Amino acid sequence: MKPLAIYIHVPFCVRKCAYCDFASFAAREDDWAGYFDALNGEIDAWAERLHDREARSVFFGGGTPSLVPAAYLADALRHLRKVVAFAPGCEITVEANPGTLNVDKLRVYRRAGVNRLSIGAQSFDAALLRSLGRIHTPGQIGEAVRMARDAGFANISLDLMYALPGQTMERWAATLDAALELPLAHLSAYSLIVEEGTEMARRVARGEAAVPDDDAVNEMQRYAVRRLEAAGLMRYEISNFARPGFECRHNLTYWSGGEYLGLGSAAHSLMDDCRFSNPPELERYLAGERRLNLAQRSASDRKEEMLMLATRTVRGLDLNRWRAEFGEDLTRSRAAQVRKLENYGLIEITDGFLCLTPVGLELQDSVVLELMED
Ligand code: SF4
Repeated sequence: MKPLAIYIHVPFCVRKCAYCDFASFAAREDDWAGYFDALNGEIDAWAERLHDREARSVFFGGGTPSLVPAAYLADALRHLRKVVAFAPGCEITVEANPGTLNVDKLRVYRRAGVNRLSIGAQSFDAALLRSLGRIHTPGQIGEAVRMARDAGFANISLDLMYALPGQTMERWAATLDAALELPLAHLSAYSLIVEEGTEMARRVARGEAAVPDDDAVNEMQRYAVRRLEAAGLMRYEISNFARPGFECRHNLTYWSGGEYLGLGSAAHSLMDDCRFSNPPELERYLAGERRLNLAQRSASDRKEEMLMLATRTVRGLDLNRWRAEFGEDLTRSRAAQVRKLENYGLIEITDGFLCLTPVGLELQDSVVLELMED
């Protein structure tokens, strides 16, 4: 059975956060039933083509999957189990907003087989949460984690953000302290990227908000690595930390170049060396448009992707796998670049893996560019 990661997109949110450029929009409850009907139809239509696949992970992302009645997610899982085998211990994640969770939803998730919860906390600073447009309070984050534990979730992850306008190192440290008081198996710490077209970008353009400079951002990241690792959450990817054995299998599939099927509006897929995606607009998705932008990957695409994704992980790029896939010894074909990056202390080669040092991870884009240069 070929392994497969499955992503299911739920595009609805209570309202749009100031920094968000995801394919999501403020909820229109009237759309929910129609959307999940279409989603289940899309799942059913895959029946013929998934008989030789085994789902190793299922990830409900968004949007805010925890916004809609939990029965919709349970129903989608029921459809999915009919068309594809689930591997034993298949990781099944629901992304949740603390402002939309309750005990009943959590119990339905558990009964449906959901075994991982990824909670979008972003900050424990009430003023920063308000400026981000988040719908929840710091208190609701702790409450969500406690409810999840009571419902039987052992694998709980929290998302946090740094490099926020108005955020000092002290405020970031206080958020990390508050997070570490909770029983977490996993934590993601992302630097804010001000995306074009968002409310945050407009505020920055008007001079109403300013993000910390690069030095301050790097210092916040370094502090997070030290603080989280000291608490037993080990960094395994640029922005991700886990207790041993709780690394996110779904995301590891992306970073290791594995195959994934995206279901729902805006979802992207990579199967049989082809990329394709569903339309981001609800209307087009409901009208049945599927598998757009179908493109076969070239060898150079695959090389670039493998370099870009594998070097995000602390383990790094598997040089034997590179040789098997491309018939090339990277340390020979890029000998000059490898030597230069080693001399700068940006990469190391250990046990057949090329990995970035902590400083290299801060400069990952540039390191990858250098490795791709001829
Ligand atoms: S909850 Fe998440 S997906 Fe929804 S608007 Fe906020 S950041 Fe975007």
